Amino acid sequence: MVGMTTPQTPYPYDAPASKALLSRATAVTPGGVNSPVRAFRAAGGTPRFMASASGPYLTDVDGREYVDLVCSWGPMILGHTHPDVLAAVQGAVLKGFSYGTPSENEVALAEEIVARVAPVEQVRLVSSGTEATMSALRVARGFTGRSAVVKFAGCYHGHVDALLASAGSGLATFALPDSAGVPASSAGETIVLPYNDVPALEAAFAEHGHRIAAVITEASPGNMGIVPPLPGFTQALRRVTTAHGALLISDEVMTGFRCSASGWYGLEGPYAGGPPDLFTFGKVMGGGFPAAAFGGRADIMAMLAPDGPVYQAGTLSGNPVATAAGLATLKGCTPQVYDRLQVVSAAIADATSEELSRHGIPHVVQRAGSMFSIFFREGAVTNYDEARAQQVPAFSAFFQSMLSQGVHLPPSAFECWFVSAAHDDAAVDRVLAALPLAARAVTDSFAASS
Ligand SMILES: *Cc1c(COP(=O)(O)O)cnc(C)c1O
Repeated sequence: MVGMTTPQTPYPYDAPASKALLSRATAVTPGGVNSPVRAFRAAGGTPRFMASASGPYLTDVDGREYVDLVCSWGPMILGHTHPDVLAAVQGAVLKGFSYGTPSENEVALAEEIVARVAPVEQVRLVSSGTEATMSALRVARGFTGRSAVVKFAGCYHGHVDALLASAGSGLATFALPDSAGVPASSAGETIVLPYNDVPALEAAFAEHGHRIAAVITEASPGNMGIVPPLPGFTQALRRVTTAHGALLISDEVMTGFRCSASGWYGLEGPYAGGPPDLFTFGKVMGGGFPAAAFGGRADIMAMLAPDGPVYQAGTLSGNPVATAAGLATLKGCTPQVYDRLQVVSAAIADATSEELSRHGIPHVVQRAGSMFSIFFREGAVTNYDEARAQQVPAFSAFFQSMLSQGVHLPPSAFECWFVSAAHDDAAVDRVLAALPLAARAVTDSFAASS
């Protein structure tokens, strides 16, 4: 199959229409973007302003087409403008944009989530993953009456003040250890531990256990590249938190409904020591619209207003259009869809690895279900320090070459590559056809820097 499709010729294309938009954008928006990694600062070059998207493809404002390996950072699991999701959105939007009252779609989406993830008895819908983790922390603090939280270096949980310490991709990309503007009082309640390190966890709990409300972890981290939990690590989190009366929050905003029909929990659970107490979801469950959720044990969720004393609210929470998109997307996530994701990601990951090996380029592919990322370094990555010990310039050279050949990778060495069920053989072939030149670009970058 390789080579059947000619890659788009890598020519000195400097994206004139994107350049013009970027210059307009930087005048009115910091960095010209509404989320930092989109600016391509780490990978270099001009971020492409997209004009449209369909199936596995993005088309930029100059009319150039790209195979999309970002998939809006995860949500577009069925591909762009999937007919069933489009029909659901069009149907919903004709019936009103936002009611500010409860509506049936919200119930149906909550039922779908509860049906898929066994330990989740109740959920509340919000509009972003950030809101989900922020609210889950508040509930955990309200429930336990404690204020400290444990997070792991390299895990990203949205831009929640208390969780912006050593928070992976966005910050790693910009080499910021933490964000400015987070008060010490807020970050001071956060204990950051190395991922996959049970002794460090036990030591932190031995010292601070009585004041720790919760441990929050990415179910299988994807925001420092893919760094799955080592066997037994999630169980250790459960054991230690239970022993100290702290809650365990599993952040499945990225992995939820992507790794499997019930997310990472569906791959690794159920756990002998019991499931996490709370889960957070986003990305896939919104189908490309702003919808996210947090949920878990009913007795903990009962802490939320109006039943309990923990306040949480949202003008657009459970928006009828967003919930229609999310519901149609989850309904569309059939076993065949998950099978296709596996096939596509294996084809791309394996071919990339083979091509890099052929050129003698040090790298390691790491996977979590159909999610994968490639680190330009020797040896498995089990934590953030190891993730950072990679050849970022090698990734940049690879990224630039792929982009010039019409393949849109995540513009950071610390991000997962996302595929969709709409990535057909033609789209996969285009990616594979671009690999030889991209590997050569990496080799050239080594030569240039030595
Ligand atoms: C993307 C992400 C978030 C934040 O979600 P937003 O919708 O961007 O606020 C939180 N946690 C994880 C694991 C994520 O990948």
